[in-house]
Amino acid sequence: MSRSPVDRVLSEITEREVVDLTVELVRIPSVFRPGEPEANERAVARTVEAWFRREGFSVEVQEVAPGRPNVVGWVGWVDGASPGETLCLEGHTDVVTEGDPAAWRHPPWSGLIEGGQLYGRGSADMKGGLAAAMVAAAAVRRARVPLAGRLMVAALVDEEDAMSGAKHFVGTPLGRGVSAAIICEPEQNELCLEQKGVLWARVTVHGRMAHGAMPYAGVNPIAAAGQFLARLPQLERRVRRGVRRSRFLGVPHVTPTVVRAPVGHVAQNNVIPATAELRLDVRLTPGLEPGGVLGAIEELAQDTERRCPGTRITVEPVEAPRPATRVDRSEGIVKALEWAVRRVSARRPVFGGVPGSTDGTILRTALGIPIVTFGPGNRLIPHQVDEHVPVAELVEAARCYAAAAVRFLSRHD
Ligand SMILES: [Zn+2]
Repeated sequence: MSRSPVDRVLSEITEREVVDLTVELVRIPSVFRPGEPEANERAVARTVEAWFRREGFSVEVQEVAPGRPNVVGWVGWVDGASPGETLCLEGHTDVVTEGDPAAWRHPPWSGLIEGGQLYGRGSADMKGGLAAAMVAAAAVRRARVPLAGRLMVAALVDEEDAMSGAKHFVGTPLGRGVSAAIICEPEQNELCLEQKGVLWARVTVHGRMAHGAMPYAGVNPIAAAGQFLARLPQLERRVRRGVRRSRFLGVPHVTPTVVRAPVGHVAQNNVIPATAELRLDVRLTPGLEPGGVLGAIEELAQDTERRCPGTRITVEPVEAPRPATRVDRSEGIVKALEWAVRRVSARRPVFGGVPGSTDGTILRTALGIPIVTFGPGNRLIPHQVDEHVPVAELVEAARCYAAAAVRFLSRHD
C-alpha cells in the first residue's frame, strides 16, 4: 500500500536532526553588537546558507546591512516555472544579549540538553523554531512530494531591534511573492491569530528656565509633566472603551516608561529646567488604530497646556507605529496548520495571541498576506536567563510545519 504524501514527509523528520541543528545554531552567538561585525548574525546566516545548499534548496542571500544578511531558501517550483502559492516559514537569526553568563545554570551558548529541555540563548527565541522550519522544508524535498507551489524558509536579521531584515525582505521580489506565512516564534505550539501592535510616543513639555528660589520667574515643565502623568490612567480607560476586548490579547495598555528632566543640560538643585520628556509605550490590540491613540494623547497634551499656563507640549511617535494584526480562522493557512496539528499530535489545536509584535507584523501589514504565529518554546521564556525549549515541542513543530506545508501546497490531499 502506498503511503500518503504527509506520511512520507513525516517519516523524513527525526528528533536527532532537529535537535542537532538547533544546537549548532545556538552555539553561534548572534547578539547584535554595533561596531563588532563578527558578533552579529553573519555566522548564523552562513551556517543556514550552507545547510540550504547541501540540501539542494534554491538560495538567495540579501545583504540588509554590512555583515547582516537575510538568507532565503526554497524548494518546489523555480521562479517563473509554474504558478502557485508560496508558503513562507519565517524565523530570525539574531538573539538578545545573554546578560550575565554566570547567572545561567548552563552556559548560554552551550545548547546543553537536560531533562528533555535544550538550554541556551536563542533556543526558544528562535533558533529552535528556525531549525524546525529548515528540517521541515528539507523533509518535504527529500520525500519528493510534488508541490503545487513553493515552500520557503526565510531566516531574517534584526527582529529584536528595528526589524530591518523583515522590512528589507518585503521589498524584494521573493518577499513580494509570498502568499502566506507561518512565523516560527515561541508560542508553545499554539496557533496565534493575533499579535499586539506598538506605538512609542515622545511627549516633550517645554517650560521656561529659572532660579529655583524664584519659581514665579519661570514655568516649571516638571509640574506639567506630573499633571500629564496623573491623568494617563483616564486616557487609558478612554482608549480601552474604543476597542473590543480581544479574546487572546485582552485590553490595550498605555504605559509611561521614561521620565526625564532636564533634557540636554546638567541637572542642578536650584535650576528649574527648560524641558521635561516622557515616553509612552502603548500596546495596541486588533481594531485599535495607532492614529486614534496618538490623537487622544495630543488632546491630553493640549488639556494639560491649558491647566499649566505658559507650557507647550508636543507629541510625536518615536518610530513608525506597528499596528496590531489579526487573521481569520477561515484562512487557508490557518486551516492547513490546524489540520496538521490534529494529524501530527492527535490533540486539539489551541488558539492564542502574541503579546508583542514580530516580523510577522511587517509581513502582514506590508504584504497584506495571512500569517499564523506558531512555534516551540514557552511564551514567557524569551529574553530570560536559562532560556530553554522542550525537545518534544521542537520536534512537534517541525512535523506540524511539514504537514501544514504539504496540505497548503497540494490542496488535493
Ligand atoms: Zn523572536
